[in-house]
Amino acid sequence: MHELSLIQSLLDIIEDYAQKRHFKKVNTVKLSFGKLSSIEPKCLEFAFEAQSKETKAQGATLEFDILPIVIYCISCEKEMKVDAYTATCPQCKGEDVIMVGGAQELKIIELDVD
Ligand SMILES: [Zn+2]
Repeated sequence: MHELSLIQSLLDIIEDYAQKRHFKKVNTVKLSFGKLSSIEPKCLEFAFEAQSKETKAQGATLEFDILPIVIYCISCEKEMKVDAYTATCPQCKGEDVIMVGGAQELKIIELDVD
């Protein structure tokens, strides 16, 4: 379960930030990651709950912004959102397709603190 190490580095970032900004607690952590990054929101929540005990992030709510899978077809010259990664363009059936979104790593996009 790689969510454990993801949450650990997330908590390290929050702790580091808390020292610089001197906040007391974290209310909400908004995270983003790509749909194809093989991160399970449920596992993240579970790992966060277990690992945030005794830290400033204890009791914080996690919010997720899951980024869609986006492919770019060279022949059609456009980007398209797809439900699952495909190496074939859904429009022209061509194979000159590049994945441009969906594999983004976990990232903190917002931190609501007191
Ligand atoms: Zn195409």
